[in-house]
Amino acid sequence: MARYTDPVCRLCRREGVKLYLKGERCYTDKCAIDRRGYAPGQHGQGGGRRRASEYGTQLREKQKARRVYGVLEKQFQAYYVEAARRQGITGDTLLQLLETRLDNVVYRLGYASSRPEARQLVKHGHFAVNGRNVDIPSYQVRIGDVISVREKSASSPKFKELLEAAESKTVTPWLERDVASRSGKVMRFPAREEIDVPVAEQLIIEYYSR
Ligand code: SF4
Repeated sequence: MARYTDPVCRLCRREGVKLYLKGERCYTDKCAIDRRGYAPGQHGQGGGRRRASEYGTQLREKQKARRVYGVLEKQFQAYYVEAARRQGITGDTLLQLLETRLDNVVYRLGYASSRPEARQLVKHGHFAVNGRNVDIPSYQVRIGDVISVREKSASSPKFKELLEAAESKTVTPWLERDVASRSGKVMRFPAREEIDVPVAEQLIIEYYSR
């Protein structure tokens, strides 16, 4: 499947905000946004850039959300269609669907340092949901689901490190975590104000409603 092959920091520079795609590095002074906070490429430093049109602004917001959650266009559009179909505020539902992907939940539980890392760990079969092995990053968790690091994975040096790091990470209020049992539980779905992604979802809805 097609994936971004460019250095991921270019994606943050393109969007002009930190998307936190590289784990611990994002919190250090090595972060490319802190060092070079202008868009990549020859027009990046201002001179040649024009003011974005309404369409351009909506498009950028959609791209930003896609990049935060690491979702390809077709799948992202499917999330929008599903959100529009459901009752409630479409923008809130869209973000809720993205937040309740298994890879995002693993990241939110602190068992990975970034969403891309969480995605890879899930794909490699290191997690179970309600005791059953799930290796699909887009798997939608439900209220009451228990996500756990599989026993055989937990003893690896990589997971020892990740579990140790998880101890000091704050968990979002809609999830409950128990590092001792290498697990976490979905207590409820997140409210909009609990989703700290730098995205104006209304612009995304406008983009798809054109
Ligand atoms: Fe790179 Fe992370 Fe900084 Fe983005 S936030 S530019 S991924 S170091």
